[in-house]
Amino acid sequence: MTEVRSEAARLWNKMVKLHLYFRKRNKKWPTQAEFEKHFARKFSLHSQTVQALIGKFFANIETTRVNRANGDKKARYPYKEKTYFNPVWKGQHIKQELNYIVLPMGIDPKTRKRSLGISIRLPKDIPNGKIVQAELAFGKLLLTIQNIVEVKKPKVDNIAASDLGSIHLAVVTDGTNSLAVVGRGLRSINQGKAKVLAQISQLQSRCEKYSRRWKKLQATKRKILRKTQNQTANLLHKAANEIVKYCEEKEVSKLLVGDITEINRNKKKKASRRLNQEMGVLSLGVFVGYLKYKLAALGIELETFNESYTTKTCPACGHKHKPKGRQYHCPKCGFVGIRDEVGAINLLNKYLNNGTIKPQFLIPKGKLKYLRPVKLKGFAKRSSPTDTGQPSIHSLSAVG
Ligand SMILES: [Zn+2]
Repeated sequence: MTEVRSEAARLWNKMVKLHLYFRKRNKKWPTQAEFEKHFARKFSLHSQTVQALIGKFFANIETTRVNRANGDKKARYPYKEKTYFNPVWKGQHIKQELNYIVLPMGIDPKTRKRSLGISIRLPKDIPNGKIVQAELAFGKLLLTIQNIVEVKKPKVDNIAASDLGSIHLAVVTDGTNSLAVVGRGLRSINQGKAKVLAQISQLQSRCEKYSRRWKKLQATKRKILRKTQNQTANLLHKAANEIVKYCEEKEVSKLLVGDITEINRNKKKKASRRLNQEMGVLSLGVFVGYLKYKLAALGIELETFNESYTTKTCPACGHKHKPKGRQYHCPKCGFVGIRDEVGAINLLNKYLNNGTIKPQFLIPKGKLKYLRPVKLKGFAKRSSPTDTGQPSIHSLSAVG
């Protein structure tokens, strides 16, 4: 496996060099087909693997080109010299024999002999479907499994709106019933992580860089990062499932989400403070991604919609002010509501009224069904009885 991964890196490095050569001399960039012709039969990899890697390289080039054209001057074309690179196998070249996956190799350009393929035993609990891609990473095999599901179209045109990531992880409403998914766990994961990482950095500052002790602490850091990443992904999946369940029960055909994730990705505006409270901007994007594909499997569309003023406007009288805390109090008409529900209801209102929030059109009932997506292990559970959402540090230092 190491040999194959280093051979893939050899191909990648050659592609990087060749492309750089053309760019530096202001020559016409070679096409993907020209690259395929040039690199064919020169590597001890399956011809389809070579093609897949060339495809990946060109996708990379294209993304950078678009980013640079859009003004991101920091975007760089591939330049790093790799020691290892993940080789990729696609479609019908992946063979399955009993519970083994066989990844074929190509003809070695030196010995002119076909190398043996790599066979790896698959786990028993592998999801149903056809393996369409296999990527050999460091110490793990990443599989893409395709499972075609028949999508049933919702009968009625039912629209729901959601407010993501301010106080609750998400509030979703169809105008009548609202559901809140509480993301308290997410905050403790992130706070716990930040605290422990800071502690480790402090310990590291007291020892010599790259010393044995320092490396051990560095490994602990990585372990914590991996653990928190898994915990976050798990929590976001569960939360997304709850929202999908709600949409299915209420026969929703379209779910609206605010466009705040897009704004932040383009970096045109400063990341808003409300996003940083519960989750990073990054996890919010990931969360929307999970929602999108999970909803798509049921034929429910996810649409982003401009959410400006949705949390500020009073749904009863239309007065605008910035709410403080969890409640929305209207200083003009005295309306009281739950802030995130107001946000979700107003987004729906705005969408149904072509971009303006119409007063009295939809009034939040103030009755939220609360759901906590997942019981936390590790961080919150082991905290002291006087838990205030602060995670325990003891549980983590045990890792190191
Ligand atoms: Zn009002």
